[in-house]
Amino acid sequence: RAKALGRNRYCYFSDELQSEVDQRFLIERLLKRAIEEQTLEVFFQPKHNLITGKLVGAEGLVRLRDENNRIIPPDAFIPLAEETGLIHALGEQVLHQCCSAARRWLLQGTPVKVGANIAALQFSNDQFYLNIKQALHTHQLPAQWLELELTESALMHNFDETRGILQKLSDIGVSISLDDFGTGYSSLSYLRFFPLDVLKVDRSFIKDMLDDPQAKNIVNAIIHLAHSLNLQLVAEGIETKAQLESLRNLGCQEGQGYFYSKPLPLQEFEARYLLIQPVPDTKAL
Ligand code: C2E
Ligand code: MG
Ligand code: MG
Ligand code: MG
Repeated sequence: RAKALGRNRYCYFSDELQSEVDQRFLIERLLKRAIEEQTLEVFFQPKHNLITGKLVGAEGLVRLRDENNRIIPPDAFIPLAEETGLIHALGEQVLHQCCSAARRWLLQGTPVKVGANIAALQFSNDQFYLNIKQALHTHQLPAQWLELELTESALMHNFDETRGILQKLSDIGVSISLDDFGTGYSSLSYLRFFPLDVLKVDRSFIKDMLDDPQAKNIVNAIIHLAHSLNLQLVAEGIETKAQLESLRNLGCQEGQGYFYSKPLPLQEFEARYLLIQPVPDTKAL
């Protein structure tokens, strides 16, 4: 399916005649400028306890805007950011926004653990561990309020080196989460080899679990797997009440998805979930 859509991946612009190459070029230009001007936005999607409905965390998801202020989704520019090396600067800015938000919520007495997505390539930077430490220090954020969401493809590069970096991060108290679990290679040896805290069940299984018994069985198996390995489990992409109930019945404790909320701009997230003062508009200062 992804392959079939491949040709249209970058078609977020109205002029349909514009070639893919032009669109890539345009996105690259927008991305470079957003990084320079520090206008990348991070939206936050709430994670909930599925039983009590309580907020248990948030995931930071980066957003880029085109010239008409329309949002370009990360799938359209993260791969490009990786190819061009811009991912390092992007990742750095996202990390700072995530830490800044978490610090703010902590100070206000409504702490929320924030998950930042980390691209495979970010590990190839020797500085990665130091960058994380520095961001925590800059924002005076205790490490327990930061989670790093990695995919298996991120773990596959430099196996031993990656484990070393994750172990150091884990030792200082940062949580490590394996994103999109069940897709990709899903080598179970990863679960043993890396110091993981959380498994996130890929939303493709949640999407199909009510119609496809096999999808549901896989979700069930992942829940048991997480349980027996003492890993926290988060279901991604919960869109309906029926999915929520099915997950609850299987014993899944936490999740996120449009049923609860789409990813929201910082201020909307705060308005909806936290009883705190609005962020001052720093651009106006
Ligand atoms: P992900 O980390 O697996 O994030 C979950 C994606 O699922 C997000 O898409 C989110 O908006 C979407 N989602 C959440 N709930 C639902 C739902 O109920 N239904 C549906 N259909 N979708 C839902 P988004 O924001 O477009 O991000 C896509 C991917 O881009 C992310 O997948 C992540 O791999 C990557 N990404 C996003 N932000 C960053 C970032 O700051 N850095 C890096 N390296 N990658 C990022
Ligand atoms: Mg994620
Ligand atoms: Mg995911
Ligand atoms: Mg994903």
